[in-house]
Amino acid sequence: MSPSHDSPLRIAICGGGIGGLALALILKRFAGAKPLAVDLYEAESDFTEIGAGITLWDRPRSIFYELGLEDELKPLIRDGGLVCRKSDTPQPFVFHELTARNGTLGLPRMDTVQLLLRALSSGPGPSDLISKHFSKCLESYTQDAAGVTLRFKDGSTASADVLVGADGIGSPTRRTMFTELAARARKTDAKQAEELEKLGMPTFTGTYMYRTLIDGNKLRAISPNNVSLKGSMVFTGLEKAAITYPISPSVVNVGLIWVQPEEFGQPRQTHSVTPASKQDVIDLVKGWEDDIQKVAEEDVTKWALSQVRLPQFVDGRVALLGDSAHAMLPHIGTGAGQAIEDAYILGQLLTQPSVTASNLSKVLEIYDTIRRPIAHQASDYVDVEKLKANDKEEFKKIGREMESIWGFHYANLPREDWARAKELFDKLQLD
Ligand SMILES: Cc1cc2nc3c(=O)[nH]c(=O)nc-3n(C[C@H](O)[C@H](O)[C@H](O)COP(=O)(O)OP(=O)(O)OC[C@H]3O[C@@H](n4cnc5c(N)ncnc54)[C@H](O)[C@@H]3O)c2cc1C
Repeated sequence: MSPSHDSPLRIAICGGGIGGLALALILKRFAGAKPLAVDLYEAESDFTEIGAGITLWDRPRSIFYELGLEDELKPLIRDGGLVCRKSDTPQPFVFHELTARNGTLGLPRMDTVQLLLRALSSGPGPSDLISKHFSKCLESYTQDAAGVTLRFKDGSTASADVLVGADGIGSPTRRTMFTELAARARKTDAKQAEELEKLGMPTFTGTYMYRTLIDGNKLRAISPNNVSLKGSMVFTGLEKAAITYPISPSVVNVGLIWVQPEEFGQPRQTHSVTPASKQDVIDLVKGWEDDIQKVAEEDVTKWALSQVRLPQFVDGRVALLGDSAHAMLPHIGTGAGQAIEDAYILGQLLTQPSVTASNLSKVLEIYDTIRRPIAHQASDYVDVEKLKANDKEEFKKIGREMESIWGFHYANLPREDWARAKELFDKLQLD
């Protein structure tokens, strides 16, 4: 018997990071009278976040506002954009201030997770909609006309009508999907199969990021007028840039990007994170202006950053979301924002009353059509070559170019993307 509109649609979300939690929240808020059964599987024993701060720009913020989180977020917004300085010179100078049309919102990552969890447990929508399962590490899945079977590392299995892989850059959902696609392609085109197989793995970008949080009071004591205490800063030098921004009145988030172009393209399992000393950072910014030297006062973690670029985010009953689909470099600070946007489009599609277990693969195609080009646009905004410029006029031009890239955060809002998705949905002939 085929599932009717009254059977609950069984949705498995694998991964409870910002993307997976945002999807859970959107399903809850938009479910209405639609019967849904949502299982959220997280590999860790609780919700966690690695890394320090995160900036949320207008696009994801508009989604959070639509979800009723405006009152909580608005008081945390600071005026002012990102001040960009040329720093590796005896006479450092500001070459541009990137506009933040509605101010800057920098948050500790764990606060973002807590915000989503609070909204999940208290906000509008059925409170028992989401079943959370911890210490459930997905290994692989299989799918057929009847549904998806998830296989976990502990030997257990679970079934669902649709699987959303929100399992981050090392995503086993993506690996399984592209192994499957490769196996199908192998029957006709061995070269394409080889390419598809590779896409299951992220590739190294040749970019390292040294990350830490520093105590603003400690920094104030050694460097009272340090520009990092006042707002968001980008210190630039040859093949390096340091981004600093406050994530609370007393905590400054620091990330120093260092590019090694010759290492680009190596396949990697995930971002690799290793401890590094403050001396490593001091050596990297040797000769740079004093304000960034003073910031380099704490031990750090060194992230070797990888990325994911895919020709499709869905296959049948399975969809990838967030870093699993499009892990990107953090240059315009929007990877998590893009995960939230994925959740916004996918969540609303899955809660449409006429979507059932038997027609959902057509619906997932719309998610792919709408979201993939935007996520790819966001991840294309990287150009380290520009940091090689050396004269003020050249830098002014770079500032203008950066401003136009920055327009991504404001040019349109995800609700317009949803309007396009809904138009495509309304044209579907669903059985
Ligand atoms: C240095 C740096 C700075 C950044 N700064 C910003 C910024 O300012 N603004 C911004 O928007 N973005 C930023 N990003 C990007 C952002 O961190 C990511 O894009 C975002 O966290 C991705 O969320 P996600 O939910 O897709 O994945 P993740 O946060 O990686 O979550 C994946 C979840 O899945 C779980 N999981 C993993 N494997 C399994 C499994 N096998 N089974 C079950 N569960 C599993 C994990 O435990 C985790 O909870 C930055 C990234 C980096 C590296």
